[in-house]
Amino acid sequence: MSRAVGIDFGTTNSVVAVMEGGETVVIPNNRGERLTPSVVSFGGGGEILVGTAAKNQAIINFERTVVSVKRKFGTEFSLGVDDKKYNPEQIAAIVIGRLKESAEEFIGEEVRSAVITVPAYFNDGQRQSVKKAGEMAGLEVMRLINEPTAAALAYNMPRGGEGAILVFDLGGGTFDVSILDVSDTVYEVIATAGNNKLGGDDFDTALVHHFCSEFYQQHSIDLREDLMALQKIRDAAEQAKKELSESDATTVNVPFISADKDGPKHLEITITRTGFENLIRKHLDEIDELVVRAMEDADVEAEDIDRVILVGGSTRVPAVQRLLDDRFAGRVMKNTNPDECVAAGAAIQAGIMSGSVKGLVLVDVTPLTLGIETEHDVFVPIIERNSCIPTSQNRIFTTVTDNQNEVEIHVVQGERSQASKNYSLGKFTLEDIEPARRGTPRIEVLFDIDVNGIVHVSAKDQRTGNAKKIEVSPREKLSEEEIEQIVSDAEQHRRDDEVFLGRRQLIKQARTLLVLLKTKAASGDISDDDEVPEINELVEYIEKVMQGDDIEQIRNAIETMNVYLNELAVA
Ligand code: AMP
Repeated sequence: MSRAVGIDFGTTNSVVAVMEGGETVVIPNNRGERLTPSVVSFGGGGEILVGTAAKNQAIINFERTVVSVKRKFGTEFSLGVDDKKYNPEQIAAIVIGRLKESAEEFIGEEVRSAVITVPAYFNDGQRQSVKKAGEMAGLEVMRLINEPTAAALAYNMPRGGEGAILVFDLGGGTFDVSILDVSDTVYEVIATAGNNKLGGDDFDTALVHHFCSEFYQQHSIDLREDLMALQKIRDAAEQAKKELSESDATTVNVPFISADKDGPKHLEITITRTGFENLIRKHLDEIDELVVRAMEDADVEAEDIDRVILVGGSTRVPAVQRLLDDRFAGRVMKNTNPDECVAAGAAIQAGIMSGSVKGLVLVDVTPLTLGIETEHDVFVPIIERNSCIPTSQNRIFTTVTDNQNEVEIHVVQGERSQASKNYSLGKFTLEDIEPARRGTPRIEVLFDIDVNGIVHVSAKDQRTGNAKKIEVSPREKLSEEEIEQIVSDAEQHRRDDEVFLGRRQLIKQARTLLVLLKTKAASGDISDDDEVPEINELVEYIEKVMQGDDIEQIRNAIETMNVYLNELAVA
């Protein structure tokens, strides 16, 4: 069997590692660097630059350069270069392809398979994109594993030990916090939380805004309108941020950033570490909230956490470390390499799967609830968030109208009770259901999540055996707003959702009573003849009420119908 490698395909940087003699080894690229910037730049002469060479081109060739492509998975992003169009998978495949080449040069043989890591918060579409990118780069993707799981594996493998590990992963563009229950052979992720739009890039952006405002105050020139200037400021901001991880203050200096009638202008601003921390306060607060949320989901207190593992370059920011020291005094491990441990863990998993590392099993969880949309926009969960994967669950559904001959299965992911407020993963229609009274057919809906976190959904008419299934497609796009909604709104809208479900429940009850009342009025067994027109009038009135949205009127209608039905039952 050829050697399998582990790949951390990062937002900012990517790393490839392999097992050698029972140890993980990070493979340097052709420039001797252990981290390859996840940047691709298309040169004018048809050449494709990757990594530092591409990053160095970013300013002069920004229109043909792609940075942070990982953030673009699940979006409609496409880059037009000459007469070709590149989607996120194709760009990612170029980066992964270069890592593969470096690995082949290092190992001295062809590399055919890999384990690739993904943020725990990636949804199915985004996971599929990463898998596809690996395949386009010529690799068999043996498995996708969550980045925090890989980090815990890399930390724990040489040392052993059991307990609760919190993996705190703050990179350039994503933040994941995961709590794992680790025993000798099983790594079980018991909870995850995070935000796939939060990271060191946001710290840079906060600094860029600060520098632009200061510059505007000094010179009345708005640098935000000048793309080239902005890129220079962004680089300077990132540099300043890194310096502030070591020193209490730093000065950014970008000469000739702009010019007006009085001549060239230079950007020169001093910023202190405290000033920087104030600029990123809201991000720090959000990070802290997500740590608390993961602990709540895992049902553990800070005292129950045995170790905190730091992953991602942004964990070097002192304010971030302080935040963790405050909660987990003495248990924050500062001796692993935050840039490399995810790739090392992926290499270990590749070793497990290719047989060179024995005795470990990995268990992951699904980070968001999966289910389907039912009548009136109600979301019915089928696999709850934080369920261990691989897993499968089924539920029986039925029809809502008489002789309904098809049902639409709309697969939805999220935490809101209203299906439309969640992320739509895909839809399909099960046809040719045998005609029957509503509520009679039994439609079995099965959700199956494989080891890569990819969801397969099937629906089967139990009576005829007629079935249909889909593998959730990455083409369904996820807007940035929707991601945010999934991650943070559910908690905020819990009350609204309760009200929504309460209303749906009332409307459903009113409908059932209305059907009963109509049946009764039409049945001819009402003794008092005067009562029939009265009931028909009532039915007419209630049908009108039901068309509206006034919940108090519907509640009153239910009471009135109950009174009538009780009286009719007694009579
Ligand atoms: P990653 O996605 O893990 O490669 O992390 C990259 C992020 O870490 C970028 O936003 C970097 O600016 C940030 N980073 C790297 N080194 C440092 C440092 N010494 N201090 C603060 N941030 C850093």
